[in-house]
Amino acid sequence: MINNYNFENKKVILRTDFNVPIDSNYKIIDNLKIIRIINTIKKITDSNGSVIIISHLGRPKGGYEYKYSLIHIYNYISSILKYNNIYFVNDCMSKEALSCAKNLSNGEILILENLRFYDNEMENNIEFAKKLHSYGDVYINDAFSVSHRESASIINLPQMFNNKNRMLGYAFLNEIKHINNVLQNSQKPFTAIIGGAKISDKINFIEKLLSKVDNIIIGGAMAFTFIKAFNYNIGNSLYEKNYVKKALEILNYAEKSNIKIYLPLDIKIANKICNNCTYKNVNIDSIPDNWYGLDIGYKTIQNFNNIISFSKSIIWNGPLGHFEFDNFHHGSYMITRNIAFNTSYNNLYSLIGGGDTAFCVKKTGFFDQMSYVSSGGGALLDYITKETLPGIEAIK
Ligand code: AMP
Repeated sequence: MINNYNFENKKVILRTDFNVPIDSNYKIIDNLKIIRIINTIKKITDSNGSVIIISHLGRPKGGYEYKYSLIHIYNYISSILKYNNIYFVNDCMSKEALSCAKNLSNGEILILENLRFYDNEMENNIEFAKKLHSYGDVYINDAFSVSHRESASIINLPQMFNNKNRMLGYAFLNEIKHINNVLQNSQKPFTAIIGGAKISDKINFIEKLLSKVDNIIIGGAMAFTFIKAFNYNIGNSLYEKNYVKKALEILNYAEKSNIKIYLPLDIKIANKICNNCTYKNVNIDSIPDNWYGLDIGYKTIQNFNNIISFSKSIIWNGPLGHFEFDNFHHGSYMITRNIAFNTSYNNLYSLIGGGDTAFCVKKTGFFDQMSYVSSGGGALLDYITKETLPGIEAIK
């Protein structure tokens, strides 16, 4: 365990997830994933070890791309950590990477260039992992949000260290603590709020939650697959034809198991998907042809918020509308505001997860009032579904 480990004179390979949003001037827009691993870095440097940080950024298409260079992260970390000796090597497989790692003194930090500039990373290539292994004595995975991926730095690399010298970092352990808290010790009523674009991405997650929760609130585009199951017209709203039957099965199972599923009663529809459109609020059974359902309606907000106010635990994944457009942000905003209020004043435990949902909550300004905002999207869904991740198994 990281807490009891003596890092003196050790070179630690630290896998982080520095895949953070960056604007066109290469400024970091959201530093959450960076800030959260600082405790792990400090633990190593304060106890006289050195750190070799490896990470990915974005989805480069087989080779170097400046916009995905970790130099942007290096510049940011150097400015916030104010350590004297933070180095950067612009090729994670180069001779320079090895020599810089070998020559690191205690207390120093080296950041290596984006692992995904090599396809070998995503292919879980053994030779690639061997090379990374040669840089250090200890391996720490502090990248929860990427630990559902079977990549070289997550799977093959840790297995090359003996089990005393591979471990999870503080940010990772904290993620698991908060997720387990809601899965294993949730106070009832326990409500899941599920939104976003597609039911197909979240079907296993929903099925798992059916054994845990009292209520499921469904919003976002995902709701239209359920609404289609009632044979209502949904206009041009996004839905998944192949999942209508599955949606019906979920509704039937929930009914038999006394789990309440809440769907939108009304919808904000628009003639175009943009801020410059005509929009109106209609009942769920009155969506005209050619219109798009893009946010939950006023009655729905009230109904969902009523359920939330009576809940003691909440897990929320997926925005309730096409929130990136100001016209369709209102539903998610009102739900976030109510969760924040109940978390602050009514003993609600609120776990928020998923990149878009976290960003949506940030946009509302209530981020700090949530009990915990997970950095994981796919990793969070997979962890909840399987109660482990490939990256955790590789450490065991
Ligand atoms: P997911 O990654 O599945 O959680 O989906 C998140 C995306 O779903 C966000 O980009 C939202 O804007 C989008 N979304 C949510 N509700 C709707 C909707 N009613 N129509 C279209 N997109 C939506």
